[in-house]
Amino acid sequence: AQVVAADFVKSSVRPDDCPRDGLPEFALVGRSNVGKSSLLNSIVRRKRLALTSKKPGKTQCINHFKINDSWYLVDLPGYGYASAPQEARKDWDAFTRNYFLSRDNLVSVFLLIDASIPAKKIDLDYASWLGQNKVPMTLVFTKCDKRKKKKNGGRRPEENVEYFQNLIREYFEAAPPWIMTSSVTNQGRDEILLHMSQLRNY
Ligand code: GDP
Repeated sequence: AQVVAADFVKSSVRPDDCPRDGLPEFALVGRSNVGKSSLLNSIVRRKRLALTSKKPGKTQCINHFKINDSWYLVDLPGYGYASAPQEARKDWDAFTRNYFLSRDNLVSVFLLIDASIPAKKIDLDYASWLGQNKVPMTLVFTKCDKRKKKKNGGRRPEENVEYFQNLIREYFEAAPPWIMTSSVTNQGRDEILLHMSQLRNY
């Protein structure tokens, strides 16, 4: 499972605008600042590919990146921006949920959770919504290189991961697959690519 080519294809403002070639896709989503751009760049081994989706105006779009000419990585708007106006937030939520429920070629949502801090309610809400709506999900824990600090409540990433998994258990019939990652050490990078290739070949 290697990435030999990664190309930005387009930014879409509605699920209807997304590419229609039916290639399998994986969507990355998470709270703003969770490390989504860093992970995307680490997966494709490019320093600045995800910058495209950080341009003003593009952060609220669905951004498609075509990998090896055969599948898509999809960068979705981050959630939980403290500064976004309430109305704008509702719009993004509706539009992302619509994408999750209507996109037939969506193989799995990769929900990013920051393992360096205790779980946030908004992450729990997001995971439980996906579970209740039976949207296939993979949990990707980010920043696993960050060791405990007093301000993190002194917990290790492994403890935060276990805690989050216990919290979401009731919303899923089977525990979702999960991967621990770090964009600093590239931990989990190969595991993500292998997992995606296994899911594509089902
Ligand atoms: P995004 O808003 O979700 O796209 O998050 P970014 O990728 O921009 O990262 C947010 C912040 O977290 C930046 O300061 C990154 O340097 C930092 N960060 C991202 N990934 C990691 C990681 O794996 N380990 C550590 N220690 N810091 C990270």
